[in-house]
Amino acid sequence: MTAYPHIKMLIGGEWVADGGDGSMPVANPATEAKLGDCPKVSAEQLDAALAAAEEAFPKWAATPGAERHRILSRAADLLRERAEGIARVMTLEMGKPHAQALGETTNAADLIDFLAEEAKRQGGRLVPVRSPNLLQQRVTQEPIGPAMLFTPWNFPINLPAKKLGGALAAGCSCILKPAETTPASAQMLVECFLDAGVPAGTINLVYGDPAMISQHLITAPATRKVSFTGSTAVGKQLGALAAQHLKRFTAELGGHAPVVIGESADFERTVAACAATKFRNAGQVCVSPTRFLVARGIYDKFVAEFAQRSEKLKVGDASTDDAVEMGPLAHAGRVAAMQDLMGSVGGNEGEIVTGGSAIAGKGYFFQPTIVAGPSAQSRLMTEEPFGPVAGIVPYDDIEDAVQIANSLRYGLAAYAFTASLDESHYLGKALHAGMVAINHFAVGSPETPFGGVGDSGFGSESGVEGYLGYTETKLVTVAKAGA
Ligand code: NAD
Repeated sequence: MTAYPHIKMLIGGEWVADGGDGSMPVANPATEAKLGDCPKVSAEQLDAALAAAEEAFPKWAATPGAERHRILSRAADLLRERAEGIARVMTLEMGKPHAQALGETTNAADLIDFLAEEAKRQGGRLVPVRSPNLLQQRVTQEPIGPAMLFTPWNFPINLPAKKLGGALAAGCSCILKPAETTPASAQMLVECFLDAGVPAGTINLVYGDPAMISQHLITAPATRKVSFTGSTAVGKQLGALAAQHLKRFTAELGGHAPVVIGESADFERTVAACAATKFRNAGQVCVSPTRFLVARGIYDKFVAEFAQRSEKLKVGDASTDDAVEMGPLAHAGRVAAMQDLMGSVGGNEGEIVTGGSAIAGKGYFFQPTIVAGPSAQSRLMTEEPFGPVAGIVPYDDIEDAVQIANSLRYGLAAYAFTASLDESHYLGKALHAGMVAINHFAVGSPETPFGGVGDSGFGSESGVEGYLGYTETKLVTVAKAGA
């Protein structure tokens, strides 16, 4: 049986078990059984973490890039070595199937490796001078300073790894505030960085009241950068606070990803990929496909086959059964949100083909759900479901599908399936999103930028952008002495 770790904060290189503001319980979402207690940080403890990050910053920033790379790639190796145990703990506190938790953890190690490599590559550039009196114009990317990192519960290793990897590779110190429902995953990740040799104070880890912590950290004078992943509503609040205090801000927020499926698409491969991807992490994925726009000629067949595949999914407690394909939702609030959304279905708002209800008994389970024919204006087609629910709508011409796809303020991921080269070029250009994947669903690789437009946020993580987001641009221009 997997042991759940004793949750502690990390402040100035010391593990701290006692929260100045008490503690809160952590539960297994599949059973509702208590796993442990998570300490709640106080304002005084936050000030200690800020002081530690401020003190550690110049030393870490001055550490040569090659040395930062060595330490971070060691952290990535430790994460790979410990992946099996970490994935088991992630499933306990979050509910996702073991294979998904393991894949997330090893992918996070690859992410850290890529970002660490950038510490050796980002040497800046020389710009040709305009005057013979000028000797050199040098542009460098300098680490921006202490970074405040806020991450949610749906990818409790991958999202902190993206932010910690970028910040640490670039030479920033940081304070990480992961979700309070999944603190152990973040703690085990931070242990890898510490054991690899990241110096005391360079990483700090706190949990508690999210609103109090973000207000305190973003407004603190020491803070130079804020990175948040979570809902659009909270992202807007934190962005406003960061702007007011002129702190650099990156936000990866909600999405409501369209999937345009053309008549020429390889039907069997497409429907299999849709069913597998829609219910990954019980649909609690910011880039989850949610609005399926299907050419009318294949619409009925697509709905029937998608529903059939959804019904066959094995739903259950993944912490005791590795064959489970879809686990519970992360907390009771997500089940209530799904029930509320389902209450809007009917009439013009579509018809439930399969699923549509919470599963009785212990745990936050909701059935894989397919709704056919909701109007483009329905709640399902305009509000991010963030759960195991798909809306499917027929279209007659591709321009109409693009118009529906682009009709929301979200713009994180968009997908299309087609065998037509013309259609794939058209859709790649016409779909308004930070990431467009054609004939597959993979938009998150360590080497490529991940980010959205509009209400889905701004700035990118992973790829070179994931490193540069923690830097600021500096020009040094040198003239001949006495010129
Ligand atoms: P929520 O907004 O209550 O919480 C989401 C995350 O944001 C949690 O980790 C929480 O600790 C954090 N948070 C909340 N208020 C905060 C604040 N003032 N300062 C700092 N952090 C704060 O929502 P929820 O019900 O847990 O999740 C559902 C919604 O969250 C979904 O609608 C989805 O859009 C969004 N979400 C997005 C992502 C993503 O990957 N973009 C991940 C998780 C949740």
